[in-house]
Amino acid sequence: MFLREDFRLEQASCKVDRICRYKVVALAEEDLTPLMPYVNAVARVVFYDPEEPVLVFRLEDRKVALRPHEVQIAEVNDADEGRQWRDKVEAFLEKVWSERGSLKPRYEPKKLPPALEIYKLLPQTNCKECGEATCLAFAAKLSTGEVSYELCKPLAEKENEEARRKLARLLGED
Ligand code: SF4
Repeated sequence: MFLREDFRLEQASCKVDRICRYKVVALAEEDLTPLMPYVNAVARVVFYDPEEPVLVFRLEDRKVALRPHEVQIAEVNDADEGRQWRDKVEAFLEKVWSERGSLKPRYEPKKLPPALEIYKLLPQTNCKECGEATCLAFAAKLSTGEVSYELCKPLAEKENEEARRKLARLLGED
């Protein structure tokens, strides 16, 4: 088992309608660093810095951040959903580890673009719908893989379609 059974929820964002979402924080039973190059070989990796070390990947529609002693999963509505995702991530990590003999580990880092480059593609209205006070603050979080661009609802509007496509490509998520 890689993750402890218990986990905590931390507030990730609150929308203008005051509905808050949470990230799951699960502590690791052991150092997750040796697992990262194998996850990097098979998962949809968004960000990988082997020096830090930290690896962010997508599992279905969620972003999962692996650090040596902790996993964060964004975003869930409540503890029940948090439990399901904790279990799903645990199962995924166990599967990768059990198959490592047939996998070629990848040690190459994967960096995200700088915040300013991301910011240029955001609507720049500072509407706060993403839960951040400004578009620049949201861009900064996107540049470290902490949040998903999908939290910016105005980006889903028709007039922002092209910017949304470019952003997805820039973030390696298209
Ligand atoms: S990033 Fe999007 S949702 Fe967030 S403040 Fe800017 S326009 Fe609004």
